[in-house]
Amino acid sequence: MKKAMIGVVPLVDTEKESYWMVPGYMQGIQEAGGLPVMLPLTADRTDIRQIAETMDGFLFTGGHDVSPEVYGEKPLPQCGECCPERDAMEKELLLAALELDKPVLGICRGIQFINGVLGGTLYQDLPSQRPSDVEHHQTPPYDIPVHKVEILRGTPLWDLLQKNELSVNSYHHQAIKKLSPQLQVMAVSEDGLTEAVRMEEKNFVWAVQWHPEFSFLTDPDSRKIFQIFVEHADQK
Ligand code: MN
Repeated sequence: MKKAMIGVVPLVDTEKESYWMVPGYMQGIQEAGGLPVMLPLTADRTDIRQIAETMDGFLFTGGHDVSPEVYGEKPLPQCGECCPERDAMEKELLLAALELDKPVLGICRGIQFINGVLGGTLYQDLPSQRPSDVEHHQTPPYDIPVHKVEILRGTPLWDLLQKNELSVNSYHHQAIKKLSPQLQVMAVSEDGLTEAVRMEEKNFVWAVQWHPEFSFLTDPDSRKIFQIFVEHADQK
């Protein structure tokens, strides 16, 4: 039996002129029975199309801030460093994956990017645009939960985890502002931020604002998210 091959969007360190990877993205997929492959940083439409057709699923990783141009806004001074190469690649890849109805899991930047491309908007900087007492930008270790989310009944995330409340880690200063009309909310933080979504009309397009790649070793619920993703990729 061949394992489901998951294309993982590379992380980019502009200072070091390097591509890199948080081990947990790869290990979370491996632990769930999938075979992760770090993708090249390219927005070439033909290459992306081949990648989209070849791989069984795609992980949209964390990293740079999503460029506000992706959702039609001007950057505020508080917006962090962006990566136009990732924005360009991920837009091509997401649209190709959706067209082919391949499974997609978005994490952190992933949920933000998917929402932005599908017609939603983002808070460019939570502390200045939406101050809150809830900690969304924790310090290490990153596998420690710092806030709760309510999981909405009737969503497949609730069906998976069978609980109304989940404690999650949190390391983001951007978040969904206006929700894409193509996305359904699956979890909301205690201060009202959208922390998990899915596309209802697709086989499997899920995204979370927290970081299962940092907590899958210690948290069974984080493992379940990788598992359901890899299971869907396995069925093609
Ligand atoms: Mn959070």
